[in-house]
Amino acid sequence: MLGTMMQFPLTLAPILERTGRLFGAVEIVSRLPDKSIHRSNYAGVCGRARALAAALAAGGVGRGDRIATLMWNHVWHLEAYFGVPVSGSVLHMLNLRLHPDELAYIVNHAGDRVLLVDDVLLPVYEKLRGRVNLERVIVVPTTGQGLPPEYENYEDFLKQGAAGYEAPQLDENEAAAMCYTSGTTGVPKGVIYSHRSLVLHSFCEALPDYFGLSQSDCVLPIVPMFHANAWGCPYAAGMLGAKQVLPGPNLDAIGLLDLLEQEKVTRSAGVPTIWMGILAALDQHPGRWKLQPGLRVLSGGSALPESLLRGFDRHAIEIRQAWGMTEMSPIGTVCTVKSSLSEMSEGERMAVRTKQGTQVPFVEIRAMVGEREVPWDGETMGELHVRGPWIAASYYNLPDQQGRWTADGWFRTGDVVTIDREGYVKIADRAKDLIKSGGEWISSVDLENALMDHPAVREAAVIAIPHPKWAERPLAAVVLKDGHDATPEELRSHLARKFNRWQLPDAIVFVPEIPRTSVGKFQKSRLREMFADWEWEPTAEAAVKS
Ligand code: AMP
Repeated sequence: MLGTMMQFPLTLAPILERTGRLFGAVEIVSRLPDKSIHRSNYAGVCGRARALAAALAAGGVGRGDRIATLMWNHVWHLEAYFGVPVSGSVLHMLNLRLHPDELAYIVNHAGDRVLLVDDVLLPVYEKLRGRVNLERVIVVPTTGQGLPPEYENYEDFLKQGAAGYEAPQLDENEAAAMCYTSGTTGVPKGVIYSHRSLVLHSFCEALPDYFGLSQSDCVLPIVPMFHANAWGCPYAAGMLGAKQVLPGPNLDAIGLLDLLEQEKVTRSAGVPTIWMGILAALDQHPGRWKLQPGLRVLSGGSALPESLLRGFDRHAIEIRQAWGMTEMSPIGTVCTVKSSLSEMSEGERMAVRTKQGTQVPFVEIRAMVGEREVPWDGETMGELHVRGPWIAASYYNLPDQQGRWTADGWFRTGDVVTIDREGYVKIADRAKDLIKSGGEWISSVDLENALMDHPAVREAAVIAIPHPKWAERPLAAVVLKDGHDATPEELRSHLARKFNRWQLPDAIVFVPEIPRTSVGKFQKSRLREMFADWEWEPTAEAAVKS
């Protein structure tokens, strides 16, 4: 027997409709490249998103055609976020920090027909020009300066749609948007989000235990709109009619703190690197900013060090860790301490808060070693597998990558984790980043977090270096804070409080900076290249043996 409910497609169109009608006056604030502030509202965004859809249709762009964006976070990108999918075409956000070779590959692999590009990013596009098959390049004026005459102006393009344009009725499973994974290994891989997956992801993200969004919130996504849908912020905030503040290209800590204060931001999202910078600025200028009392920020993309959690606690800002992947739209787990754990000591509570969290509704997880599922005991490591309605079932046009999915339909994340009795997932490493010493696993993430707890350490990344006797041994690359000093021996003693002797890095090397990926994560592949010629000295061997 079937239910008696309507078959109502879950698409982005009703979100756009509703937001324009109900919350037209709610502000969308963009900080432009010259740091001036541009103010618009949902009525403006919705009207212009519809105009964009109409102009695409008038230009012969049809259902399923890919429209690429090379844009910072601002109101014009938000218009594209809604206008492109509502027209039936597919929004393809390009990661503007990638190497031109990689970007050209991605544009061609996706088969993008049209590019919307910020005026300030034309130099990035110029490096692709001649190597990509775009039919139209439309430039968004974000600086008020004139455009080179050979380019089409976005404002003129918007006027080209028919007056009575009606958006098509879409199936909820049609493609809405696509992103390529940051591709630190292998070829970049495209993930296509459907209307349905984006709608369901927005509902989940907005729930009180996760991002906790309401109409009265003000959301500042620091995470770029080209990285995994800005973690769903634009759609979730749009669905509820919450104010959005879009920071543009300037992501320095002082400027962000000014924006958080001036616009009364209550929700924000970004990678730990951003939060580390913000914490350092807050520590350096106590009392300078009056932030909103209920401010909650999500930290994801890489592990949240305990020192950062403690720092934010000190400044009474709630920071929550989330874990996810481009392949997961991206949210998979969020760390919220359950009420049943309220009796825990402060130390136990902190241990929970540094974990990546519990699965959000409709995301299912398991940790596997080969064909065997490992117990949820908080100790046994296994590769995390996931499945759910906003998790990719394949990559776009890459049949040889189908091995990332198991025969019984789970996605292999490549993250090695433990899951505790309460269901909290802790990422030990990417599978390839674990260190295997004498047959025992060492988690580089645990070592990094402990190093970053030391008052003199700004950043630390740990990698495995081949070792003649132990197969691999850990090497730590450490960046010291300005004006601080520490010796390798001091840092080893600091680590020895938490780790067994065999787990300690045999080498601690001070470096001016840790190489990063285009989305701000430690780029361990580059670090491994930097230390490719490393030779262990006999003393290191002695340390391991003793
Ligand atoms: P991306 O698709 O670029 O967002 O990268 C996804 C990968 O980032 C995951 O598979 C993890 O390895 C890593 N990652 C994301 N969030 C976290 C987190 N909170 N802690 C540790 N690693 C994370």
